[in-house]
Amino acid sequence: MSVSLIPAFEAILQQRLPLEMRSQLALPGVQALHCDLFEKARVQVDVLRCDQVHPVISGNKWFKLKFNLVQAWEQGCTTLASFGGAWSNHLHALAYCAQLAGMHSIGFVRGDELQADANPMLQEAQRWGMELRFLARDAYRHKQVEVPAGTWLIPEGGDNEWGVLGCMTLVPVEWARHYDVIVLPWGTGCTFAGVFRAAPPDTAVWAVSVLKGHWPVQALAQRLQVPVSGSEAGSEPGAAPAAVSSPQARVLTDYHFGGYARVDATLLSFIRDFGDNTGLPLDPVYTGKAMFGLCDRIRRQMLPAGSRVLFIHTGGLQGVRGFQFPTG
Ligand SMILES: *Cc1c(COP(=O)(O)O)cnc(C)c1O
Repeated sequence: MSVSLIPAFEAILQQRLPLEMRSQLALPGVQALHCDLFEKARVQVDVLRCDQVHPVISGNKWFKLKFNLVQAWEQGCTTLASFGGAWSNHLHALAYCAQLAGMHSIGFVRGDELQADANPMLQEAQRWGMELRFLARDAYRHKQVEVPAGTWLIPEGGDNEWGVLGCMTLVPVEWARHYDVIVLPWGTGCTFAGVFRAAPPDTAVWAVSVLKGHWPVQALAQRLQVPVSGSEAGSEPGAAPAAVSSPQARVLTDYHFGGYARVDATLLSFIRDFGDNTGLPLDPVYTGKAMFGLCDRIRRQMLPAGSRVLFIHTGGLQGVRGFQFPTG
């Protein structure tokens, strides 16, 4: 995989992406966020609105998919297939993308007790022509599936080298230079890997893990072949602190709220209040936890006054309908 492929891949997208889809895609804008916490700490926080790159395809999912699409075309594939849970933003995006590109799509969904009507995300994916195949959890774990000839099989979460390459285009370099720290959520770490690789050497990139455990610290080190530091205060008793520290790449493991898609009243109230105060909507699975982590770090004065932070809003707002927010 080489960075030098990016311009050629972008050119292929320009040529082959249907006009309908090209016209729906927008460049993410940057907007300043204002609230008492940031002002008091004298930390500048801007947000990159990747949630607004497309009306249907959620935020970072387009960046993970776009070069997979190019690669599928290059290989002469006519079917896109991938894996995900019942609320997968990735499968949802893939289904829409495949439909507009005139391709067949297959979604392998975790949970053989489910059906297409299990939730609105799956219903939509099916409506866009995705063939849903439900796998028992054990079979899902092994990911050994049969696909028709001419299928471009994408790993869970879009996490392959083409996904990373696409995520390198997520933050324009000339913008990244204006920030000391870039903050984003970590699911598979694919988006993080792309953003980190593309970031200028003196811009730190912090990923807030939305999954329980400290494995992302090792995963990050492995991915980037760099020494990294984990969270200073391990939330799990006995958890090993990460080995070596590098100020530039870091994964924060204290803000998972019990694990993937787990929430509590504190998180949901935070999301509601943050939206009221700043006007920025957040989702409870990814961006809400990442912003909670950033705010907690600021509250604990772990960012010096004068710091400039770019928060990447990776999307996920279509999944908000799966959650009940406290009122009042
Ligand atoms: C999928 C997703 C992520 C996680 O991205 P990874 O590349 O898997 O780390 C983050 N935010 C949102 C909104 C997502 O849908």
